Amino acid sequence: MQTEQVIQVKQLAKKFGNFEAVKDVSFTVNKGDVFGFLGPNGAGKSTTIRCLLSLITPNAGSIELFGKSLAQDRSAILKNVGSIIEKPDFYKYLSAQKNLEIFARISGADVSAKEIAEMLDFVGLGNRAKHKVKGFSHGMKQRLGIAQTLLHKPELIILDEPTTGLDPQGIIEIRNLILRLKNEQNKTILLSSHQLSEIELIANRMVIINQGRSIVEGEVGNLLQSEETVVSIEVDDITKAMNSLSQHFAAASIQQITNKQLEIEVRKQDIPALSKCLVEAGVGIEALEPKRKLEDYFIKTIQS
Ligand code: ADP
Repeated sequence: MQTEQVIQVKQLAKKFGNFEAVKDVSFTVNKGDVFGFLGPNGAGKSTTIRCLLSLITPNAGSIELFGKSLAQDRSAILKNVGSIIEKPDFYKYLSAQKNLEIFARISGADVSAKEIAEMLDFVGLGNRAKHKVKGFSHGMKQRLGIAQTLLHKPELIILDEPTTGLDPQGIIEIRNLILRLKNEQNKTILLSSHQLSEIELIANRMVIINQGRSIVEGEVGNLLQSEETVVSIEVDDITKAMNSLSQHFAAASIQQITNKQLEIEVRKQDIPALSKCLVEAGVGIEALEPKRKLEDYFIKTIQS
């Protein structure tokens, strides 16, 4: 079966005055992708996204959504796209449910009360439906924003740095929600981020952009498979952990950070062996987190 392309961007360029915010960005998002749009701050991600949503007009290049030219079929195409590009804005003295009712009416979407209740349930706000948005945390507002993007039942959802400013629990909730949008609702998702570790956790494909240019595009697993990762591990017995790891891994790759935490540089495929080694030595693992940095990936990509 041929892969259906949901977004195809070719050689996009956008200037603000004389400043070229986007110089040459190309990428393809396929149906069903959680597509990582990755790049450091200032790389041109938001500018590209604003072009995709037709909020600004590019100076050069082409954008096709659902196989149609955005320049030619703008309004029909955008009916099938939902987005959060800035902090979502709500009527804070009204309830979550009332907000969605109003937004549905404004957008002209035909949404029943039952569907609104289902959307609130889906984003984990079912029990807060009647509560005023005023008392919501940033994470809850972000999830309500996602419910809002679902109102007109778009196939494609574009999220610009959706986890920025969220606490760790809020980040996990948004991450899970994005995966459920793909798995349970068959949405295609474009997700921008400046954090490689974030994209690595949930995206299946990605493009990396830097200084207004796309540098590399492909399957996340393939692009990162052979990369060394710094893994941060918290343990109950640091001495035992350091001893057992140094018998199996190069001593130079292991560093003690505190009396509970160490860092070790390994390839991703070695992480299971790493935890096995600690477990067999009787070390309790309290936390284990790969800390791959976009900056490190760039340095290696550019050098090779
Ligand atoms: P990112 O989303 O990757 O952080 P942006 O697309 O927001 O990057 O910005 C890319 C570059 O374009 C930045 O240097 C930014 O300052 C500049 N830029 C963005 N919007 C405007 C604008 N409206 N006018 C002038 N410069 C802008």
